[in-house]
Amino acid sequence: MQTPALTEMDSRYLVHPVSNFRQHQEKGVKVLQSGDGPWLTAADGNTYLDAFAGLWCVNVGYGQQRIVDAATAQMNQLPYATGYFGFGSEPAIVLAEKLVSITPSSLQHVYFSLGGSDAVDAAIRYITHYYNAIGKPTKKHIIALQRGYHGSSSTGAGITGLPAFHANFDLPLAHQHHISCPYLYRSNYDSAQALIDASVAELEAKVAEIGADNVAAFFCEPVIGSGGVIVPPKGWLKAIADTCKRLGILFLADEVITGFGRTGTMFACEHEGVEPDLMTIAKGLTSGYAPMGAVLMSDEIFNGIADGPNKAAVVGHGQTYSAHPVSAAVALEVIKIYEEGMLAHAQAVAPYFEAKLQACLSHPLVGDARSLGLLGAIELVADKATKRPFPAAIKLHETIADIAWQHKLIFRAFGDNILGFAPALCFTESDFDTLFERLQLTLDDVL
Ligand code: PLP
Repeated sequence: MQTPALTEMDSRYLVHPVSNFRQHQEKGVKVLQSGDGPWLTAADGNTYLDAFAGLWCVNVGYGQQRIVDAATAQMNQLPYATGYFGFGSEPAIVLAEKLVSITPSSLQHVYFSLGGSDAVDAAIRYITHYYNAIGKPTKKHIIALQRGYHGSSSTGAGITGLPAFHANFDLPLAHQHHISCPYLYRSNYDSAQALIDASVAELEAKVAEIGADNVAAFFCEPVIGSGGVIVPPKGWLKAIADTCKRLGILFLADEVITGFGRTGTMFACEHEGVEPDLMTIAKGLTSGYAPMGAVLMSDEIFNGIADGPNKAAVVGHGQTYSAHPVSAAVALEVIKIYEEGMLAHAQAVAPYFEAKLQACLSHPLVGDARSLGLLGAIELVADKATKRPFPAAIKLHETIADIAWQHKLIFRAFGDNILGFAPALCFTESDFDTLFERLQLTLDDVL
């Protein structure tokens, strides 16, 4: 039961991520209490369908007792082991080998972080070490996508191409650049190929402007997540990765959202046979049951650092909880669940999800519907012909997500005109029926 005292305590003491401080205090917290599969029970006593897997992370669904058992066993045996000073733990070592075996073959070494932001941060630091080690110290600049999200660490937030993450914070932006997001629905291109060609040309032009000798890497999400679930046209990722190779810059795939079955393959790079130089992962790695992320890198980067002029020195990057054994034990169990059938199930139900999403286009407010695997969105417009976005403020202090909550549905609204869905991979066709019935009620309420 949610008591007024708990609401008061939250408002007084807890700072919520990516929130408007005062607005949150006025609206009050919605306390979540328990979960089972894709269902969440809140402290108000109601059960909600979570069509966003927490924060696109609880891919295996809530209430997986075998993960709790794996964590408990590891806590009983050894709750903590440092990776410093030559120490290590069995689950972390086994997990590193497992990740190398299931990610693209270009990736051969793993550094564990606590989540996605610090995986991105670690990647930036290793890339810098690498270029310094191989005698190319001018290669410092990083290019990413407008609307891309790469976390909110002090450096990664700059690579994030979302204005809210730059505003009111003096980021070290001198080395960070952005090119257009491959957003077909809102582009002037009438074919996917024209958009891909334009994207490649823009990347080439940006590298030429900065100077290839100064550009370290290009970072992108295979499907742009927090920027509004933008699915690039098929062939875009490969064309961009190939361009990076041709221009002599590293290609980093940020698979924090798209990894672990979210888009229908274990990793989204697999759709186009892309072999990145680095990959960042988190979220589905542990399905949110414990915090953990990682950056994977190629032999070339690892060996470049290992054998460089500073080879006698330590690489000064580390965290107390890197390769935490409990998180690693959780991750190993989560990966077993994907491999023992949940990934296959997600692949089997994805066409049903896609068909339901596409059917939303018949609603007068829905201008676009897009998805890859179990990652999708609909985009609301005030006018389908002009694509004028649906106005953001529906009612004072009531967002479209609030209206969905009244219909016992959880999704993520991006500025109220893009509704994002990342259902747990365990969603059944009947769960999808419930999702789209409740979505219809929500849309009809705002019409
Ligand atoms: N990269 C991507 C693509 C993400 O979507 C996120 C989080 O949503 C991050 C990095 C940051 O991860 P975290 O929130 O675990 O720090």
